[in-house]
Amino acid sequence: MLTIDGSQGEGGGQILRSALTLSLLTGEPFRIEKIRAGRAKPGLLRQHLAAVKAAVQISGGKAQGVELGSTALTFEPGEVRAGDYGFAIGSAGAASLVFQTVFLPLARQTAASRLTIEGGTHNLAAPPFEFLERAFLPAVRRMGFDATLTLQRHGFYPAGGGKLMAEIGPVRTGPEKFVAEDRGTLLSRNGEAMFANLGVDIARREAGRLQELLALAEGEVKIREVEASGPGNLLWIEIRHEHITDVFTAHGELNVTAEQVAGKVAKQVDKYIESEAAIGAHLADQLLLPLALAGGGRFTTTRPTPHTHSNIAVIEKFLPVEITITDARRGARLIEVSL
Ligand code: ATP
Repeated sequence: MLTIDGSQGEGGGQILRSALTLSLLTGEPFRIEKIRAGRAKPGLLRQHLAAVKAAVQISGGKAQGVELGSTALTFEPGEVRAGDYGFAIGSAGAASLVFQTVFLPLARQTAASRLTIEGGTHNLAAPPFEFLERAFLPAVRRMGFDATLTLQRHGFYPAGGGKLMAEIGPVRTGPEKFVAEDRGTLLSRNGEAMFANLGVDIARREAGRLQELLALAEGEVKIREVEASGPGNLLWIEIRHEHITDVFTAHGELNVTAEQVAGKVAKQVDKYIESEAAIGAHLADQLLLPLALAGGGRFTTTRPTPHTHSNIAVIEKFLPVEITITDARRGARLIEVSL
């Protein structure tokens, strides 16, 4: 049984989720200690419990220590089975993170699976639906993993109440090597100021400011009102290049002006564009695991985050791969996964 230190790197929930995914894929049981030791409120939160329960459900595995606040956990996977599954997080906990926990093991099966995940679909510190749909899924499809996501109901923090449906797999081709060193020429920039149960003025100001900051053309940032149980607001922009698409986002929050929200998105985009890297910081940490399971490969990214470093450590514990980070052009880094 492997032992995982949950306090390494950023010491957050990602270490647990990556360990669950890798354990499901390899059949290797693990014990994780010091869960989320790097966070203000350490231990398991509802959304982490949901991820563990989902891993148990799809594999008939066993887990000990699955309680709110628990800082240690043992997980023994069973055999992953494709099927129809429903996961209710029971709060605004991120549905996207529960999806990512079980996606790869299910995508490897010879039959398709259908998931219904209820919780938050647009949360702080988690991939929003638009990011998964436009950046994450197109990249992993290139590695031979297939899924289609449908957003049935928006769920913003703190009210939640969202619903995400996923159709996953079946596996079609052998896993393929992924290479994204150059992003190629810029094809389009297209964004949206999305809001629920708030004044339209917030979205108008966000869109206007983002347009100014990134010198976008009229109509490149749209405004959309959606239905949700509570108030919510997300400003997102998709940057499409010839060889890769990435998405940058910021949430509206209390005491943060619409202009500041636009500033947060523009800053991420500027950093990405200036670096000449193919992959932004969030997509980088999320592509490591699929890449290590597929045929390996390499991509350039902006400065690797603590999430990237801790994901590398967890992957190298479970799989016989070597992951290196070296300097590339204009301050970018090259991450290479060798099998
Ligand atoms: P905690 O650490 O409190 O347990 P958590 O379980 O939500 O939090 P983290 O460990 O912070 O998880 O991991 C969050 C994941 O969400 C990371 O993979 C990160 O790249 C991703 N993520 C965060 N913000 C964004 C964003 N704006 N766009 C895309 N992905 C994001």
